[in-house]
Amino acid sequence: MKTILLNLQILIFLSACAQQNKKAEQNNSKSTNIKLLDSTWTDKVVKSKEEWKKILTPEQYNITREQGTEPAFSSTYNKNHESGIYYCVSCGNPLFNSTNKFESGTGWPSFWKPYSQRSVDVSTDNSMGMQRDEISCKRCNAHIGHVFNDGPLPTGLRYCTDGVALLFKAKGNEPTANLSAYNKATFAAGCFWCEETVFESVKGVAEVISGYAGGTTKNPSYEEVGSGKTGHAETVEIYYDSTKVNYQTLLKVFFASQDPTQVNGQGPDQGTQYRSIVFYRNLYEKQVTENYIHELNKSGKYKKPIATQVIPYEVFWKAEDYHQNYIQHHPTDSYVQNESLPRIKRTQKQFPELFKPEQLLIKSN
Ligand SMILES: [Zn+2]
Repeated sequence: MKTILLNLQILIFLSACAQQNKKAEQNNSKSTNIKLLDSTWTDKVVKSKEEWKKILTPEQYNITREQGTEPAFSSTYNKNHESGIYYCVSCGNPLFNSTNKFESGTGWPSFWKPYSQRSVDVSTDNSMGMQRDEISCKRCNAHIGHVFNDGPLPTGLRYCTDGVALLFKAKGNEPTANLSAYNKATFAAGCFWCEETVFESVKGVAEVISGYAGGTTKNPSYEEVGSGKTGHAETVEIYYDSTKVNYQTLLKVFFASQDPTQVNGQGPDQGTQYRSIVFYRNLYEKQVTENYIHELNKSGKYKKPIATQVIPYEVFWKAEDYHQNYIQHHPTDSYVQNESLPRIKRTQKQFPELFKPEQLLIKSN
């Protein structure tokens, strides 16, 4: 399971984005001094060819001003999984957020939506004997790439970009600092990729971290947990704003996101590392969880008794970076397509009003 299979259909896209094999090196040195903007919109930037040539490298000029295309797999941004913003290399307009980046397998940095409505313009491009939708910077008109309608949910779009036209700036470490103000809830219910995405789409949830809890080894690796010998389960730690969503609501989503009667497994994933657990932090959480389980057992909704364990929270170990936001980064992975996305949709369908509208994978009515 969870084997990352390159979707064969991606190969078809290769020709769609590719043009001639123009030599383009990843050299942004000339532009590193440009002023980077936040999302605050400023006037259009208009410069002459000569002025652009002064501030851009020949490669950047070729791509952004002459509609060039960089060779596939040439950009270091293609495999970049760092959190941050991709700006227009020409004018500093924020174009894409790393949270909307995904592995398309095409060899060009790919996103399923732009940073904001002020990021890109779309126009028809009839070059290379085909009709495509060209994307350009809304502020300085730089050519950025093309957009295709074979991207992942929720937009179904694939913004196929030239890395040379972008300038990436990593995010500072503000998320961890800001999270101290939130309440935490810790749950396990099978694959943490799925649970992380389910809870990140709940209104009032600020952040969800994938990790391990319930076992004995300190700071275990994914492989150690996967062996089933450490006692840990794949777990998510949820940071929520208790003025916007309460613990009972999180419990409701938690139980709806799984088959809580399944013992030592979830869906196709078998083993104690996929068991269902509520890690309570205080007697209140213990009590409301036990009450809710009692009600579910009484309701007749399930044929078998609830198997979810209710145990005290002790320690949570953050999983390896590549497991964080896994679904966003690998929307074409076969496990994500066949297991995770249907599971997220099944959960959201039960109470669409609890989820952030922009992260609803289903139609709300
Ligand atoms: Zn620009």
